[in-house]
Amino acid sequence: MSGPSVRARGRILIVDDNAELTETLRAVIASGIHGMRIETAQTGAEGLERAKAGFDVAIVDVMLPDASGVDLIPRLREGSPNAEVLLVTGFASVDAAIAALRSGAFAFVLKSFRPEELIAIVEQALTKVELKREREDLEQRYRDLVEVTDVLVIALDSDDRVALMNPKAASFAGVSPDEARGQELVEAWIPKADRAAMRAALADSRSLPPGKAREVETGFEPRAEGPMETRAGELKARIRWHLGSGTDPGALVYGIGIDVTERRALERRAADAEAFSAMGELAMNLAHEIRNPLNAAVLQLHLLNRHLDKLEAEEATRASLKQRVRIVGDEVGRLSRLLGEFLELARPRGIAREPVSVPRLVDQVLALEEQAALARGVKIERQLPEDGCIAIGDHEKLKQVAINLVLNALEAMKSGGELRAAVSPHGERVRIVVEDTGPGIEPEVLRNVFDPFFTTKEAGTGLGLAIVRKIIDQHGGEVKIETERGRGTRVIVEVPTGR
Ligand code: ADP
Ligand code: MG
Repeated sequence: MSGPSVRARGRILIVDDNAELTETLRAVIASGIHGMRIETAQTGAEGLERAKAGFDVAIVDVMLPDASGVDLIPRLREGSPNAEVLLVTGFASVDAAIAALRSGAFAFVLKSFRPEELIAIVEQALTKVELKREREDLEQRYRDLVEVTDVLVIALDSDDRVALMNPKAASFAGVSPDEARGQELVEAWIPKADRAAMRAALADSRSLPPGKAREVETGFEPRAEGPMETRAGELKARIRWHLGSGTDPGALVYGIGIDVTERRALERRAADAEAFSAMGELAMNLAHEIRNPLNAAVLQLHLLNRHLDKLEAEEATRASLKQRVRIVGDEVGRLSRLLGEFLELARPRGIAREPVSVPRLVDQVLALEEQAALARGVKIERQLPEDGCIAIGDHEKLKQVAINLVLNALEAMKSGGELRAAVSPHGERVRIVVEDTGPGIEPEVLRNVFDPFFTTKEAGTGLGLAIVRKIIDQHGGEVKIETERGRGTRVIVEVPTGR
């Protein structure tokens, strides 16, 4: 026979009104398992009192003077949910055994037990308690890790609905982990462009063997509802997902997501810079070269138009010819505007730093666009202070900013509306707000509006806001767009006063 085992910690509680039996139990356990604290109680009430301090295994007589041992089990375990209870009974009947096990007892022990039997059972119970504790510990550690980790953790059920989302993932999703539960992951947070890829990856991952992962990279961001805003230079979240299969029916896919937003932005910036330096000079020269023939073409069109007036021909023929000249003129005008904007964006030239009266500048721009507004049925409202609001910067460039914003606002209001232009002091900056009552900007569009050449307009250049952004960056200011579908758009620009 091997010697007694030694356990580092552990409390055993014996609840029995038979003092002799209690002593025997204590002696047997003490001889077989070392290092245990053994306590005894005579009645159910006393047993409950002692159990409050915590215990690992209780050995409880089925028939106590004040209670039934079976009824006592759940109450004993209240404070020690991992603990196990052995019932001691005088009768070896099947009924007694079934009743004991049903009541949640670990085992039942006959009063006529053999010592080594009792020791073996108590050992088993202690081992089970230890395992439960270890598992709980591990689970807690795992939960803590999932809570605080800097990676995104998700689990999905069979319908691709969220079963679990850790706080990091939830912060990207713009919800609390509780709010995330039950939502369809792809619909709710994956941008349209990435949905097909994510669905395919999720489908693949379900059939993966354990330990294998399917990788996919997607955007991950809150669905736009109600008012939204974007800042120039704001990064779009990119997440690299590692998806694997689970066995729990409630969590069939596990995903770990690494935030690669910054890395992608850096890569893109590096690629942009490279492309710009390679193409920039060539493109600039080309743009200059195109400008001269374009100007010549404009001049020739002018002359052509005058000749047409004097041409002896049917009125209808003349009108149709003049119409064509006008179309060519419009197209050439568009080309030269594109060139102008392109050069504005590409030229590395610095900016002037002079005091600029922003209210006056905005007023000039509004006067310039007054006719265009009238033609569209747009009412202009000015909130421009008489004096103050002096920014330090480049008058011409800031004017360009105001023009681009006012044009966008006008172009957004196809069937009339109201354009509000306001200038106000804002700490150490001057704030310009240009607001329209147009249709607002769709989320997919909003993400791209500051990108050069991005446009949703048939005759747009897509350079307006890119120029605004560049100029405001040069001034050390800030651009922000707030928009609400169906309500309109508000662009807020802030320029330092140099104070
Ligand atoms: P462009 O005006 O040539 O299209 P911009 O850079 O000025 O280029 O604008 C880019 C896009 O941003 C526009 O095509 C349009 O879709 C959107 N946009 C800008 N301003 C507004 C606005 N006030 N209302 C609605 N959409 C706007
Ligand atoms: Mg524009």
